[in-house]
Amino acid sequence: MPLFRSLTLAIARQPAVERFVRESPFVMPLVARFVAGETMEEALAVAGALADRGLATTLDLLGEDVHAPTEAAAATEAYAELLQAIERSGLDATISVKPTHLGLRLDPDLARLNLERLARLAQRLGRRVEVDMEDASTTRKTIELFDCLHRTYGDHLQLALQSYLYRTEHDIERAIERGWRVRLVKGAYAEPPTVAYPSKAAIDAAYRRHLELLLEYGRFVAIATHDEAIIRVARGFARRIGVGPEKYEFQMLYGVRRDLQDALRRAGEPVRVYVPFGRHWYPYFTRRLAERPANLLFLLRELLRGAPTTL
Ligand SMILES: Cc1cc2nc3c(=O)[nH]c(=O)nc-3n(C[C@H](O)[C@H](O)[C@H](O)COP(=O)(O)OP(=O)(O)OC[C@H]3O[C@@H](n4cnc5c(N)ncnc54)[C@H](O)[C@@H]3O)c2cc1C
Repeated sequence: MPLFRSLTLAIARQPAVERFVRESPFVMPLVARFVAGETMEEALAVAGALADRGLATTLDLLGEDVHAPTEAAAATEAYAELLQAIERSGLDATISVKPTHLGLRLDPDLARLNLERLARLAQRLGRRVEVDMEDASTTRKTIELFDCLHRTYGDHLQLALQSYLYRTEHDIERAIERGWRVRLVKGAYAEPPTVAYPSKAAIDAAYRRHLELLLEYGRFVAIATHDEAIIRVARGFARRIGVGPEKYEFQMLYGVRRDLQDALRRAGEPVRVYVPFGRHWYPYFTRRLAERPANLLFLLRELLRGAPTTL
């Protein structure tokens, strides 16, 4: 799987491929499966429909790797508006932000100011900002940024950690020591074997190790996976050590394993769905393709079917 992911993401980065995918009308139904719409209103409507199914949400305004401070400021402003709109809606919803969308790659101090503005607003509203984890070139800076702001904003912030990185062993220890709320994910980027486990088996084993540590000793863990075997282990382990929903929730992506989301809810488990929206869907969409060969095959079939009209 990691090899399939690297290959898919490398191909998707080619400008000609991106242009082709963006311009093909045959791709849009697949994009719509994973992306809740272009506007905040559309995303809030989806969050409302999920709430009717008993599901909480975390809303992600798509965007990453901005090229200018003004773009980072615009993203921060849009997220602030989103937090206010969530507050007005009364939904059980958080926001998920990517540090490079707030300017991390341009200037870490700029990203800190932007994230702090959102953390302060979340604190005032009694809400939470979830910090996504991006590719390994940003991990150290993201953790430093989170650590610094967590001292002031505590549980109003939550950090994603990726089990595929070797360094995460140590980051989990730090998260436990400092009382961070963590979203545990396997990891979605193409990383070399110098920094990340190269096999699915090793990634899954690391995830289970990290999960058990966080469930037993951590402040709170969002178990962000669609892996049924891991979900079974998590539920069994939580029961065995007497830990309840004050210590964990399940998180899944919009458009992925809706059946499992509903089944967990019916079983009385807390479930939060990650709802991305906005115009900058391409990188997010390609990561979803790279997670599952069937998604890529579906896309290729649609593109081939459309070929006579698009050529
Ligand atoms: C709420 C949430 C937040 C996330 N945040 C981050 C983040 O901040 N940083 C980061 O690097 N990664 C993030 N991810 C992505 C994560 O790292 C994985 O790439 C992704 O969740 C797939 O891994 P899996 O744990 O579901 O297990 P896998 O073993 O990959 O998949 C298990 C099963 O889930 C289903 N499945 C998984 N992915 C798909 C898909 N795309 N389409 C259809 N079915 C699928 C399939 O049935 C598959 O057999 C997030 C994931 C979730 C659920």
